[in-house]
Amino acid sequence: MSDDHSSFGFSTRAIHVGQDPEPRTGAVTVPVFQTSTFAQEAVGKHTGYEYARTGNPTRTALEAALASMEGAAFGVDFASGLAAEDAILRMLRPGDHIVMGNDAYGGTFRLISKVFAPMGITWSAHDLTDPAGLGAAWPENTKIVWAETPTNPLLTVIDIAAVADVAHANGALLVCDNTFATPYLQQPLAHGADLVVHSTTKYLGGHSDTVGGFVATNNAEFDTHLRYIQNAVGAVRGPWDVYLTLRGAKTLAIRMDRHNENAAAVVEMLEANSAVSSVLYPGLSSHPGHEAATRQMSGFGGMVSFRAAGGRDAAIRIIEKAKLFILAESLGAVESLIEHPGVMTHASAEGSPLEVPDDLVRLSVGIEDISDILADLEQALS
Ligand SMILES: *Cc1c(COP(=O)(O)O)cnc(C)c1O
Repeated sequence: MSDDHSSFGFSTRAIHVGQDPEPRTGAVTVPVFQTSTFAQEAVGKHTGYEYARTGNPTRTALEAALASMEGAAFGVDFASGLAAEDAILRMLRPGDHIVMGNDAYGGTFRLISKVFAPMGITWSAHDLTDPAGLGAAWPENTKIVWAETPTNPLLTVIDIAAVADVAHANGALLVCDNTFATPYLQQPLAHGADLVVHSTTKYLGGHSDTVGGFVATNNAEFDTHLRYIQNAVGAVRGPWDVYLTLRGAKTLAIRMDRHNENAAAVVEMLEANSAVSSVLYPGLSSHPGHEAATRQMSGFGGMVSFRAAGGRDAAIRIIEKAKLFILAESLGAVESLIEHPGVMTHASAEGSPLEVPDDLVRLSVGIEDISDILADLEQALS
């Protein structure tokens, strides 16, 4: 993996690492290598590419760029965020235990509790904002602590370094889902996480046009495991989808600057609106995780959740009244989205320790003009 550009800044690396001009033609943009197989010069003598499940040059470019953005030595691309999570969880064996946050992403909870639990892997949900409490109640055989920060959809902030210390003191790994923050705002490996996972469907791709997942690590053994699973299980993407993520990732920094700015203005407006009972955003000094967020993030991101003063029905009315904000699942793209986590993205957590309040509204604040964003929310709240 090329690290010729390792001394460059974040955006330079996003635009150049793994993306030297194509040697045969000089094409400046990484080509979409739309091929399933690669000609070999002699039996067993190949270019490094044999079959496209195992490796494709477009995918290699994306893996190098995203790894560099995370400050990681290694990175592996997968068919979706959940396929990336699955590849990590396949390190576990029957009898092993997973500790997850008590507001983990609904799909992560479903994967662990419905797919891995029947295979003999046990789990428990904990308040990861209290690392000392976790250490005191440490479940036996825990091999992985699975943390998200900020969390989806409650925007809870977890102190990565403190949770990493507790995990490591007990012989477990820390996996950090960095989907909400993105590597531009937060690099969990630098704070002690062992593996970073992304749904690149969200901010890294940034345009709501492709589904993908990614894992970054500095540990060569984990990289070998992930590569093995990538090839052996085969949850890989076609080159067009990989190309779209590579194109999206180049502009991550400027998009995130705008997301940060727009979200801050939305938070200020919501805080002053009587239809809103509380605003959940790590940038608020009243947010319980504000101090940790300030330490480990360079900006607070584009995700904002709030609770409707009028309860569940009011929340649904607000969501359905929004016009510019599109009513849809997913997040992290150029357009603003609005949703009801209780009924939509987090329905699989109903009745579990991970259930979310039913008056909660989640916003993915886009990069449209802030005057249009504010006007739409104001009419929806009125
Ligand atoms: C969307 C999401 C995932 C799952 O990723 P997919 O690409 O949808 O499979 C995992 N974690 C978080 C925080 C997400 O928002």
